[in-house]
Amino acid sequence: MVRRIGPGRLPEGSAQPELLKDLNRALVLGLAQKERVFSRAEIARQSGLSKVTTSAIVDELIQAGLLRELGTGQSNGGRPPQLVEYLPSARLAIGVQYAHREVIAVATDLDATPVLQLSRPVTNASSESVLAAVVAIVRELLASLTREHVLGVGFASPGLVDLEQGVVNLAIDVGWRDVPAARILSDQLGLPVMVANRGKTAALAEQWCAGEPGVEHLIYVSLGTGIAAGIVHGNTLYLGATSSAGELGHVTIDPNGPVCECGNRGCLHVYASEDAIVRRARELTRNRPIGPLAEKIDGDVRSINADAVIDAALLGDPAAIQAIEEAGAYVGIALANVVNLFNPDLIVIGGPTSRAGAALLESIERKVRRRALTVPGRHVRIILSRLGNRAGAIGGAILVLREVNRLIFSNDQRPSPVIS
Ligand SMILES: [Zn+2]
Repeated sequence: MVRRIGPGRLPEGSAQPELLKDLNRALVLGLAQKERVFSRAEIARQSGLSKVTTSAIVDELIQAGLLRELGTGQSNGGRPPQLVEYLPSARLAIGVQYAHREVIAVATDLDATPVLQLSRPVTNASSESVLAAVVAIVRELLASLTREHVLGVGFASPGLVDLEQGVVNLAIDVGWRDVPAARILSDQLGLPVMVANRGKTAALAEQWCAGEPGVEHLIYVSLGTGIAAGIVHGNTLYLGATSSAGELGHVTIDPNGPVCECGNRGCLHVYASEDAIVRRARELTRNRPIGPLAEKIDGDVRSINADAVIDAALLGDPAAIQAIEEAGAYVGIALANVVNLFNPDLIVIGGPTSRAGAALLESIERKVRRRALTVPGRHVRIILSRLGNRAGAIGGAILVLREVNRLIFSNDQRPSPVIS
């Protein structure tokens, strides 16, 4: 697991004692989280801080319940060291995702490991209904948790989000415009609330949980009713100038293609979204009505939906597999461009369509290998999401976990925009 709590180095010329103390504490906390069991001397050596400073910070962290004394360790010839242990269960973060007519909420420990999970359907996509459902599901979680241990809530939202203000500026598919989600949720829950786009939080979650320290450049792609990417570049969530980076669904595949709901022509969205896959599967099944999908629908191709296509593809239905593979090929073409632009270590394919598994992954991979430049194309690994439909929610909790130091030790409890 890649763990990092707070910044690991001091900015040049940082002279303010409070800021310095804060950065030093974040550094020690990050090392404690990595080492799990350690002596004060070890942390002093690794951090470059003095033994006195390290010891004072360790005492402060013990006081806060994040560490505990473990007793005497093995001697290496000298005085045996006093060991200290990191306690990941000392605090909790809550992450909630709204996607695909459902809210999914997780409570995680300080390692972002879920300790509790709930999901509830949401039939009305208006922001009022969805935010009410978020409040309700968080309250349900809180009822089973020690509230004082909960640091805050991270909401993984659809659409373009102003992270600083916690406002969802625009979510076309659900018709949200200028929704002050952080303020509404924080007022009702009495907890700090951070908001980010769900594709971006899922990218954070996939990187945090990658288990590979070498993965610094990661692209997460969510395939479903819409197509979006979250970009982690150099361990930092890449947002772009207006937090809009990652709108992969609206890159152009064919300038003369069909009109997309964004107004442009031939976007990836019109070739590889759920609707596109369903449309293609209906067409193929109508022309050649054999296989599990044709049998299931009893001649009525209109009853084919995305779940049915994926289920049939997993059963080996040729029309369903072809529809999935064609969509995957278009995704692969778009991703080959992304590989050339960003040179990622890892691409993670998530979202509901990723349930189609090998047929989808292999068609994406074939196109990327064929079309990306040799060096970045060979380097990148492409995998299916390991976190499934809760990646966005876990990433919501990570928005909070990245602020552990501030949320516990600072008097400033305002939601912070700093999520990198
Ligand atoms: Zn478009």
